[in-house]
Amino acid sequence: MADTHYLALYRKYRPLTFEDVRGRDTIVRTLKNQIVSGRIGHSYLFCGTRGTGKTTIAKIFAKAVNCEDPQDGSPCGHCSSCLAIAENANLNVVEMDAASNNGVDDIRNIIDQVSYSPTQGRYRVYIIDEVHMLSTPAFNALLKTLEEPPEYAIFILATTEPNRLPVTILSRCQRYDFGRLAPDVIAGRLREVCDMEKLDAEDKAIRYIASAADGSMRDGLSILDQCNAFNYGQGTLTYEKTLEILGAVDTGVFSRFFRAMHTGDAATALGILSEILREGREIMQFVTDYIWYLRNLMMLNASEKTADMLDVSADNLAQMLEDARLAELSELIRAIRIFSALQEQIRYAANRRILAEIAVIRQCTPVMDGAGAAEDPLEPRAGDPVADALKERIRMLEEKLQSDEQRVSEMIRAGGGGQGFSQTGQGYPQAGQRQAQPAGGAAQQAAPQAPQEPRKAPELPSAIPDDVRRVVNGWSRLLAALPSSYLKSLLQKANLSLGGGGQLLLVFPNRFGADMFNLNEHNRTEFENYLSEKTGKRVPVEYKFLDKGNKFTDNYVDLQDVIRMEIEIED
Ligand SMILES: [Zn+2]
Repeated sequence: MADTHYLALYRKYRPLTFEDVRGRDTIVRTLKNQIVSGRIGHSYLFCGTRGTGKTTIAKIFAKAVNCEDPQDGSPCGHCSSCLAIAENANLNVVEMDAASNNGVDDIRNIIDQVSYSPTQGRYRVYIIDEVHMLSTPAFNALLKTLEEPPEYAIFILATTEPNRLPVTILSRCQRYDFGRLAPDVIAGRLREVCDMEKLDAEDKAIRYIASAADGSMRDGLSILDQCNAFNYGQGTLTYEKTLEILGAVDTGVFSRFFRAMHTGDAATALGILSEILREGREIMQFVTDYIWYLRNLMMLNASEKTADMLDVSADNLAQMLEDARLAELSELIRAIRIFSALQEQIRYAANRRILAEIAVIRQCTPVMDGAGAAEDPLEPRAGDPVADALKERIRMLEEKLQSDEQRVSEMIRAGGGGQGFSQTGQGYPQAGQRQAQPAGGAAQQAAPQAPQEPRKAPELPSAIPDDVRRVVNGWSRLLAALPSSYLKSLLQKANLSLGGGGQLLLVFPNRFGADMFNLNEHNRTEFENYLSEKTGKRVPVEYKFLDKGNKFTDNYVDLQDVIRMEIEIED
């Protein structure tokens, strides 16, 4: 995307009239009726997740109330007021992002303006985005104005988290909820955009992108944009290419995986797992997606009437229904438990593959949860010879894992260096010199500094800035609370490392992941604002893609490992 004039699809196709808005019929109708009947309110609250049309509709509404010749409640688009607003040259529309201007002074600036009536046009419209980010004094200042607004003032407050607004504000506003958009609505719009852009894309690809967008039109268009950039000059955007670009796995694979384990065919299930890894897929993503697949089966198994709630395509649904009919509800619940436990374990584990294999084998043999079985009402019996054999195998694998971990800890205690453990020992960067540090150099330097004393932790990690350390420590919790599940799914794939300037370095296994932040300002600001909101600080972040073939530890330090080791040793 070297062309600097390139306009992202979600900007280029942002609706300019109510008629172009998709999937918001009730809200649009209500607002248009208000304009037609002249019963316009003074304060509106638009709630809903990202990319669901809040700001878009706010802007169209702002245009419509000032339009000299509104058409059935929609702005005409060519009167002087409409034109000026379109060029952001109209003083009657004031936009403020509360995420970056959350102080009482920022609000005062706006409120001071409110006292002057507009020189042209009828209304002055204030759009305050992410309004929940305002400080308490700022809310109080805003409340005063909302209580007695001048005739010509309209406030549109937009938020992703209405529960964080004071009741006093909520009670003053007409509230509109922008739920997640249905995949069909998003797919329909993506198809329109493809037609306008002359992009050739399979229906199945479009549907997959629409479901990956998770209810956000903006995400849907961004993903389409990225897929298209990757596929540029290579003909039709197919479903397979889309999966590849997004690093995802075809639902058919989950079905085969599930069926293999259902029939106790460990060899086939392990084969599928190995195939997934060989293709360079992220195991974490695979496990997360598989749990979601199982969850859908569970819903269908409980009642096939839940099919409408699943947001999956007709082909996938038919497949899932077949799978769901195969299994008992208890088997599905047990599978979800096993794989959710695995998801938790592999977050921090060095040997993710072995843990995944254990989960597969465990799932293949219903009687082998060992000591835990007694507590689990879903585990009826024990004593099957085949299970015992497998149990023995797992015991061996678990022991091997444990002894590996022990060796690693011993190595660190012995002085931070040593073969076979490059993450902490070799080349841990002092800020600014990570590239220059020869492998092993750090360990050699560190040794004389702490001569005899048994070391609490490797010397070098003290170079990790505190805020980066806090983010890394709380990473899983931070991700879990991240409102956008789409960003969450991207970030889950990233490894955490430290950049040369002390910044948090997110290393993605696929270019797509890094691009979704580097090329998409919205995603970047949303994530970084969220980080500063949670940590109370601006944490510098860099997003990088790691070329295929390079192992993570060859080029980057795994901060999660480093910090976790420290904590273990301090205990
Ligand atoms: Zn107009």
